[in-house]
Amino acid sequence: MIYQNFIGNQWFSALTGETIAVYDPSTGQEYAEIARSGASDIDAAVRAARTAYEGAWGKTSPAERSRLLLRLSVALQDQLEVLAQIESRDTGKPMKQARADAAAVARYAEFYAGAADKLHGATIPYPRDYTVMTVREPHGVTGHIVPWNYPLQIFGRSVFASLAAGNACVVKPAEDACLSLLKVAEIAADVGLPAGALNICTGLGAEAGAALSAHAGIDHISFTGSPQAGQQVAIAAAAHFAPVTLELGGKSPQILFSDADIEAALPVVLNAIIQNAGQTCSAGSRLLVQRAIYADVIARLSELFQATRTGAASDDPDCGPLINARQLERVRSFLGSADEAGILVAARGVLDANAPGGGYYQAPVLLADVPPDHRLAQEEIFGPVLSAIPFETEAQALHIANNTPFGLVAGIWTSDGARQLRMARAIRSGQVFINNYGAGGGVELPFGGTGQSGYGREKGFEALYGFTTLKTIAIRH
Ligand code: NAD
Repeated sequence: MIYQNFIGNQWFSALTGETIAVYDPSTGQEYAEIARSGASDIDAAVRAARTAYEGAWGKTSPAERSRLLLRLSVALQDQLEVLAQIESRDTGKPMKQARADAAAVARYAEFYAGAADKLHGATIPYPRDYTVMTVREPHGVTGHIVPWNYPLQIFGRSVFASLAAGNACVVKPAEDACLSLLKVAEIAADVGLPAGALNICTGLGAEAGAALSAHAGIDHISFTGSPQAGQQVAIAAAAHFAPVTLELGGKSPQILFSDADIEAALPVVLNAIIQNAGQTCSAGSRLLVQRAIYADVIARLSELFQATRTGAASDDPDCGPLINARQLERVRSFLGSADEAGILVAARGVLDANAPGGGYYQAPVLLADVPPDHRLAQEEIFGPVLSAIPFETEAQALHIANNTPFGLVAGIWTSDGARQLRMARAIRSGQVFINNYGAGGGVELPFGGTGQSGYGREKGFEALYGFTTLKTIAIRH
């Protein structure tokens, strides 16, 4: 099967006719092809979006956009199983995670349907012979570069917010995982999204992605992926003064103080690193544990790691395969550096005996006593590898937590209320969770980072501000 680009509610091959092979991460087998778009395909998509923005789509009222997104949400929910199956095969996600992602994309449509007609401006006190107001206006045409780890969720959080705000969108999914997004586009057209409001061009980052970020017709870019690619996108966008939202991953700490409810914390700590095989920007990939409970925590967590099952996505294991051979190689190189440094492997999960031979499997690994400045504790591995680090005092925990180039999410586990607040305020991070982590996906919760984790916020109502520009109108009377 060859999947085409979606431009102006129609399907097109890449103008060159070229395609890219699609592989199943659970088996390593090729099973489909996608269009390999270039600058001309991106240009066609941007022109379709501009036409929509200046035409039927641009004239919709917020209430109409709200109703449309609500219809889309219901249709996505109706197709949840279909979307989950596509996503699971394309990314290697275990089915229960793929179902959660499909439910999330429907929920994003529902949330932004509800928000579309509530994006108020303000009036500003000024001398009496003036009335001054602010209005929020769409940017125009927004570009969305989506990674492979959570295609449905990351698409939903940025594209539906952008559509709700009245923009027309051009999306460049990741070359490794785009099939679910093409299905969403088809569903959107079916429920009546006007032609050109949503366009999707598949292709490589260095080709289609670079062409999208450099296109002068793009008024805003939302990028999720690696710091290196994000930086290139921001540089390309700067050439035509397009604002950018960057979500670039992290090295997020989970901090366990000795007064924490360990029983409650440990399953959450485990899930935060094995979910999506650790290929999660907000993965809790560093575990900081107060010395008094360190040995006990490592022993109990080791049991949980050893009980995990890694295997084919369709078998719904705890941990599926990694996305591709390159990612597997990357994770193995990190594990190799643990070996070289003599870092102790405290526990490993189990690889299913019947996991297909060609799949990209890495069972979860718990590393103990990782030096805080080692690359295992500093760099984003993007695999199911947890680096445990002991600490003595609160000040030391804070120092270690803040001492990476990233700042995306932090988890703090303690029953001391004053410490909860001290830590939450002092930690360098876009989100802080106290005695929980990730808060159930948090469609409503603004999300984004600082430092190499990026800038700007997506999710929640806050995202709508990023997808609009503020106009101040001063009337003298
Ligand atoms: P990547 O950043 O290269 O890819 C993400 C998206 O950006 C894809 O759609 C890709 O096609 C596109 N892209 C790549 N180069 C581009 C460019 N120059 N201009 C425009 N678009 C471009 O990520 P990757 O190579 O697939 O993965 C490498 C590492 O990135 C991972 O190991 C992980 O550490 C990190 N990563 C983070 C996230 C996240 O959610 N924060 C997601 C994916 C990857």
